[in-house]
Amino acid sequence: MKQPIADVAVVGAGIIGTCIAERLQFEGKRVLLIDRQGPGEGCSKGNAGHFATDIILPLANFSTLLSVPRLLMDPTGPLTLRWRFLPQLFPWLMRFAWAAMPHKTAATIDALKRLNRPSIERFDALLKRTGLEHLMTQKGALTIYQKPESAVKNLAHLKKVSAHGVKVEHLTGDQIRELEPALTQDVAGGLYYPDTAHTINPYRLVTSLFESFIQAGGEFKKLQVEDFAFGEKGVELLTNGENIQAREVVIACGVYSKSLAKQLGYSVPLEAERGYNLTLPEPNVELNRPVTSFERSFVMTPMEDGLRLAGTVELASKDAEENWQRADILFEHASQILPGLNKSGATHWMGRRPSLPDSLPVIGRAPKHPQVIMAFGHQHLGLTQAAVTADLISELNNHRASKDLDAFAIERF
Ligand SMILES: Cc1cc2nc3c(=O)[nH]c(=O)nc-3n(C[C@H](O)[C@H](O)[C@H](O)COP(=O)(O)OP(=O)(O)OC[C@H]3O[C@@H](n4cnc5c(N)ncnc54)[C@H](O)[C@@H]3O)c2cc1C
Repeated sequence: MKQPIADVAVVGAGIIGTCIAERLQFEGKRVLLIDRQGPGEGCSKGNAGHFATDIILPLANFSTLLSVPRLLMDPTGPLTLRWRFLPQLFPWLMRFAWAAMPHKTAATIDALKRLNRPSIERFDALLKRTGLEHLMTQKGALTIYQKPESAVKNLAHLKKVSAHGVKVEHLTGDQIRELEPALTQDVAGGLYYPDTAHTINPYRLVTSLFESFIQAGGEFKKLQVEDFAFGEKGVELLTNGENIQAREVVIACGVYSKSLAKQLGYSVPLEAERGYNLTLPEPNVELNRPVTSFERSFVMTPMEDGLRLAGTVELASKDAEENWQRADILFEHASQILPGLNKSGATHWMGRRPSLPDSLPVIGRAPKHPQVIMAFGHQHLGLTQAAVTADLISELNNHRASKDLDAFAIERF
């Protein structure tokens, strides 16, 4: 094996890999970031932009499980399963059901809190350090409901999350319209999370962090990594072009990390929870912060290039063709909440949330390959958890991992 050209090669330039690469480069390492596309072109490109520190209850929970059959009956609803992919997805679904058992969720909540709670403070520090603070807005977020009977479930949720330290208030419809005058008179109430934040452009966030990384001396190569070889000097990345030597490698390829992990002999139940967005460049209405509809399960986030409607889960193979109806239906929902909403010029997008069945990512060293660190599977919360993940990877890379990372270990599968 030749001399390593990098201390660390980070594979995957999504929000996770880019935050890790920027962080390690800032610490003085020689970092090479590799992606088969440009930075931020994967799932990190079109997400809802919400630093959702309030989401500390795992998606895999008992009440989600109970509502799955009803949700699946509605083809335009927030959750669909493309049935021909059921055999492929069955093992994931079984593990999801197991992770949703009440005795499993307490530990998952603790792990999610560890990743989510420091998120905004850590992003704030990162964005100030890189001069990008204008890309994050701290105005909180709302979850609204239109059916008065939804108050019961919202108040139960408030009780649960506030017991875990999430700052949240219940507001009446009028109080919500004071914060967001564009919302319909039908809004009956909702929950206000004052401590959350959003980015005005998730794609620009990744590409700007990437520029900071390059300016700090980081290097980028557009290559597809296909396998690894190991030697005394570190790891060799076998790619579709030149092969690369590095002392260590970080795998941060989102949902595509599954195949690279497999090359190393690790079987990980990582699947795509596909989500859609519809971005309205001239919405004709104004929101100030992310607003989630409780009954319709999607979020509307004001961004610099328009109003983004995002959400829904489509369980299918990651490479299955898109069903753009799932993006278009978001407009039907949003126009029931925002009178006068304008669709002209709308663009749609689909992204593959890299999801493990227990709603937690893999963060840690590969058990049989000390030169390999893994950072993938951040499901619905990759933006939220990226800066904190970069902290944890930095600790691992510097061999001073202070915190117990068992909850995120690949060995749990
Ligand atoms: C509709 C929707 C809304 C969302 N909203 C939010 C939100 O509001 N807040 C939040 O926190 N999260 C949200 N998410 C989730 C978030 O977007 C993801 O968790 C996050 O983008 C995952 O980032 P990543 O870096 O792991 O993966 P990606 O962004 O997918 O990046 C992986 C990169 O790896 C590269 N790659 C893959 N394989 C290889 C290979 N073999 N060699 C080289 N390169 C490779 C890809 O090209 C890609 O650039 C949302 C997701 C969706 C779909």
